[in-house]
Amino acid sequence: MDDCIFCKIRKGEIPSEKVYEDDKMMIIKDIDPKAKNHFLCIPKNHFKLLSQMTEDDEIQLKHCLKTIPKLEKELGLEGGYRLVINQGDNAGQSVFHLHIHILSGQKMGWTPA
Ligand code: AMP
Ligand code: ZN
Repeated sequence: MDDCIFCKIRKGEIPSEKVYEDDKMMIIKDIDPKAKNHFLCIPKNHFKLLSQMTEDDEIQLKHCLKTIPKLEKELGLEGGYRLVINQGDNAGQSVFHLHIHILSGQKMGWTPA
């Protein structure tokens, strides 16, 4: 947790382009966008995998999923968007603090690689 980038962003120890924050989650711009419009929705609790969620983690993740649609206009998601949660090696998870990618701003194909 001490060396987790997203925990450091939460604590303000490293800068980020934060576009939304409340007591359970934050949304930042991805530093290396994979779509025209790429945000990361990050629950404040540090946990790596869906299989490791505590009850409190579940509350935060549910809150994320309920809040993202409320921010569609603010985040420019009206044309549609894709949510992605990478889990583990094969998915290429590189930050081990669970997060939801919010991809939008363009038509997207469907290629796993
Ligand atoms: P994942 O590969 O699913 O673990 O996604 C990690 C994402 O975090 C990648 O899309 C990175 O570009 C992004 N990322 C890494 N460091 C930062 C940072 N300091 N600020 C914003 N996004 C970051
Ligand atoms: Zn963390």
